[in-house]
Amino acid sequence: MNKKRVYSGIRATGRLHLGNYFGAVKGMLALQDKYDCIFSVVDSHTITVPYDPKTLKQSVREIILDYLAAGLDPKKCNLEIQSKVPQHTELAYLLSTIYPVSRLEDLPTYKEKKAQYPKYINMGLLYYPVLMAADVLLYKAELVPVGIDQEPHLEVMREIARKFNSMFGQTFPEPQRFKTEGDYVPSLAGGRKMSKSIEGSFINLNDDLETIRKRIAGASTDSGQIGGEVPKEGGVANLFKLLKLFKLNNEFNKFEQDYETKKIRYTELKEVLVQAIYKELQPFQERRKKFEEDSKLVDDIINASNRKCLQMAEETMREVREKMGLD
Ligand code: ADP
Repeated sequence: MNKKRVYSGIRATGRLHLGNYFGAVKGMLALQDKYDCIFSVVDSHTITVPYDPKTLKQSVREIILDYLAAGLDPKKCNLEIQSKVPQHTELAYLLSTIYPVSRLEDLPTYKEKKAQYPKYINMGLLYYPVLMAADVLLYKAELVPVGIDQEPHLEVMREIARKFNSMFGQTFPEPQRFKTEGDYVPSLAGGRKMSKSIEGSFINLNDDLETIRKRIAGASTDSGQIGGEVPKEGGVANLFKLLKLFKLNNEFNKFEQDYETKKIRYTELKEVLVQAIYKELQPFQERRKKFEEDSKLVDDIINASNRKCLQMAEETMREVREKMGLD
């Protein structure tokens, strides 16, 4: 029997951060041993927000290097660059003909991006979930390791798969999100999730000890004199969530008690976090150096993966074109 397929992608909008790592990459690592995996740098999604064409290629390369350094193993999974498999956009167009515009306009991610880039509201932004559905369905993937913020997009994907199957015959599975423990890593800037596009919100996987310390120092706290239960939202809550994420349970309990009794010292809590983050990232940073120094190896990995992805993608497209009467 064929193994289940898995697909996930990350945009090339900057270097990977702890949110991407816990929400997506940890899931990828957990699945690569068991399933047929395709992990992508989704550059066609990247260009829906303002970007620099001169640096895009390098940004794509950086994510591939981050993937390899994080432990994605090209012997176990395929590393894809989305635009190098043109079947993604072909399938997205075909799927867009069976999906209502009104549903796309209602999606929270679209509304957020509209608010973030009011001068850059483009068709690609609206179309994003359709292309994402095509990304996953192109490989008939059943599992998608992504953060909780992507759940509305997974719902669109399943709706599209159901609609296609009912109109043209059983073709696509209904993909499910693969959940990780860290599927919502909070922002260091308080409020929303850690994100590449929100300055001051993130820690990059390549940050050195001093940078980590500086970024954590910038995280908002309170006077430490409030006492009572630890808040559920905001800067302090986020620091406690990070302690949990790094499995610092004893420290969590200690600082929780300190908070309740108004004895908490945030500099102490922050330093505990800094050390834990640095320890987690060190092996990643060492592996990355090795890949950075061997660009031929990285090129070979990309080319071999690309050949396999093109083959798998074309297999699905032949079936889709035939079912839609376009063969
Ligand atoms: P960003 O929001 O930083 O630009 P992407 O949109 O490229 O990141 O998302 C890439 C992957 O990382 C997705 O699977 C997304 O769900 C996950 N992800 C991004 N931010 C977080 C976060 N703060 N917590 C958990 N997962 C996240």
